[in-house]
Amino acid sequence: MKENCLERMERIDAKRKMADFQVKMGMNYDFKVKYAAIRAREFAAECDRRELNYHVSVGGLDSITLLLFLRSIGIEAPSISASSLEDPSIQKIHKQLSVERIKPLKREDGTYWTKAKVIQEFGFPVRSKELAAKIELLQNPSEKNKTVRHAIITGETGEYGGNQKHSRMKMSQKWLELFGGYENETEGTDYRTPDFLVSSKCCYYLKERPCDLWAKEHHSVPYLGLMASEGGRRAKSLKINGCNYFGASTIRSAPFAIFQRQDILQLALDLKVPVPEIYGTIEQKEDGTLYTTGAQRTGCSMCGFGIHMEKRPNRFDQLRERSPKEWDVLMYHLCKDENGNEYGWGRVLDYIGVGWRDIPEGIQEVLDGFKEV
Ligand code: SF4
Repeated sequence: MKENCLERMERIDAKRKMADFQVKMGMNYDFKVKYAAIRAREFAAECDRRELNYHVSVGGLDSITLLLFLRSIGIEAPSISASSLEDPSIQKIHKQLSVERIKPLKREDGTYWTKAKVIQEFGFPVRSKELAAKIELLQNPSEKNKTVRHAIITGETGEYGGNQKHSRMKMSQKWLELFGGYENETEGTDYRTPDFLVSSKCCYYLKERPCDLWAKEHHSVPYLGLMASEGGRRAKSLKINGCNYFGASTIRSAPFAIFQRQDILQLALDLKVPVPEIYGTIEQKEDGTLYTTGAQRTGCSMCGFGIHMEKRPNRFDQLRERSPKEWDVLMYHLCKDENGNEYGWGRVLDYIGVGWRDIPEGIQEVLDGFKEV
């Protein structure tokens, strides 16, 4: 009989691996930097042994720091980035560091996918990659995904998932109330259905797949600036598989896997990494905590993942100050509904209860800081 996911976790000793990883995450900065250097060199050596090339996948500050860290320990690897998605100040640093710019995938009509085209066709990246993918499944029902859809609404996994009754596949109640309506008829529920699409596909079309194709063409595997402490869907696999992973279909190195935010900022300072203007500068609070005076994290300006958890001024408020025109497009004109009416993130944010129209009292002063960025 086919192994279910719980049996698989047991076979690969996932619990112990995750506990070991957790211990390393708690070690001090010096240990982590040495550890990262050892893992990065091991990865390069193993790639050489397997006759594979390696490269650095570069985005924001974390991976810019990774690129310079690798150079500092003598690992000279080509670097690539889906730069067009990044803030102009990040693009500027990429250029300075000779990072190769990767274009999005081509569409059937020969044009390239753009943010607006992907959103129009597939939907908005809401809450997290995991949740958006679940909602996307609900929006695209088929006989094949029937069991998964049932698990998303009820938590019952069926045989493959070990017949669990309360699995984590179930969407939390808040999001079920908002997006579970697609299954009302089959599940006898009374949830709402939005008048926009949700999807996690934009990353795939705009950066993941194009970078994968580049890697394939160059017979190359990536160094990534991932950290388990950032959470998200990759945190668990980092904890189970560790920094270097040579799997059947995936090979990658994440030398900073055990780093915390503080470690990466300290390393950026130590290596004198050029900090893109969008982050401001790296400063220290009285208690010694490092922080960036501008954005704490970046990514596409249109990304909605995690927006529901941000305090205002959130990333869209900050964008409004920095680039009012882009904000206007994102909020009102990103795509068209079936009646030809233009709409954008504004509709989505209203639906998920995130404020965006008015600037609440008291945050203007904070926002002024972003104007200079
Ligand atoms: S970062 Fe967000 S908005 Fe940008 S491509 Fe990925 S999912 Fe889409």
